[in-house]
Amino acid sequence: MSTGWVWRDDYSWYDMGHSPGLIPPGRYVEPGDHLDQPATRQRAASLIRVSGLADRLTPVPATAATDEQLLRVHTPDYLDFLIGQDALPKGGYADRGLWRSPFGHGNLEIARLSAGGVVAATKAVLDGAVSNAYALVRPPGHHALPDRGMGLCVFANVAVAAEAARQEHGVGRVAVIDWDVHHGNGTQEIFWDDPHVLTVSMHQDRLLQLSTGDVEEVGGPDALGACLNVPLPPGSGSQAYREAFTRIVAPRVRAFAPELILVASGYDASFFDPNGHMLLGVGDYRWLAGQVAELAAEVCQGRLVVAHEGGYSPSYVPYCTLAVVETLAGEDTGIGDPAGFIVETNPFQDLTPEQARVIDRLEAVLDEAVAP
Ligand SMILES: [Zn+2]
Repeated sequence: MSTGWVWRDDYSWYDMGHSPGLIPPGRYVEPGDHLDQPATRQRAASLIRVSGLADRLTPVPATAATDEQLLRVHTPDYLDFLIGQDALPKGGYADRGLWRSPFGHGNLEIARLSAGGVVAATKAVLDGAVSNAYALVRPPGHHALPDRGMGLCVFANVAVAAEAARQEHGVGRVAVIDWDVHHGNGTQEIFWDDPHVLTVSMHQDRLLQLSTGDVEEVGGPDALGACLNVPLPPGSGSQAYREAFTRIVAPRVRAFAPELILVASGYDASFFDPNGHMLLGVGDYRWLAGQVAELAAEVCQGRLVVAHEGGYSPSYVPYCTLAVVETLAGEDTGIGDPAGFIVETNPFQDLTPEQARVIDRLEAVLDEAVAP
């Protein structure tokens, strides 16, 4: 069986507008390229085709997520609000006035297809049509809350897929592992008091305005220990991530014994990202993908779905994405990391004493809060 592959051209048609970077529009803000440029995912999809890897994948068609699927994690009022934003001639915002999650005219269907793409990938894995799957979707999803969008996210794509797995396929326990550089706050909130879904987020400590994602957030009263946060200091690289994953994440996922693993794979912890401040390279994403594939093989017959989240370097994200898809497929195109000579030789890829102290503290806090 091969690896499932979700991609649609119209994912890149989702319109983030012309605010430069992440700066909201204003009198003294010259319009420019939004941080989430369509080119980033287009180039990733293009590299996967040009490398020949796409020929060895199984295309999985995305269908729009239904109201029923979306309303398992979102409120009816939010869906109505989006229908209103969708009809505005120049579009609006999914985040109800924060002006940070642009929503283009007519984009509701694309957002539904993004969530639906992760659902389709998950169903293909659960049906046994493919061994695992990668969904290169847009807009992203892990910040979306039940009643509003946030941080460029409209629907909580991975959470919608987790619920589809549970409600439509009878899956009991799902683990969501999120290595986007931002805290996966939406997924955490949706499953906060649900002991059947383990949410794991490795992220840069308090990046942007996010005040969530502290290690002491371990889940609601009915789900203590089913929420795991690994906030790492800015500047963390290869060894800090490997140490944190091996010591903190892997044993807790193993102990949870999920029947399905979903990954929220952002690439904004990469060395070249204009948003995050971490140092990961192509080899590190390959390593992370290998780790979750091994975990999935060990605990849930390899049932693994990786969904694309953030990542804002149009030049570098494609190589990181290629490495993850190659790992899922057990293939090697030989392309590797064309910028490896910059990334891998950086001396801060080693574990610094400060990072080691942070990881020690995270482990100690978790051991005290919840027995592993
Ligand atoms: Zn992010």
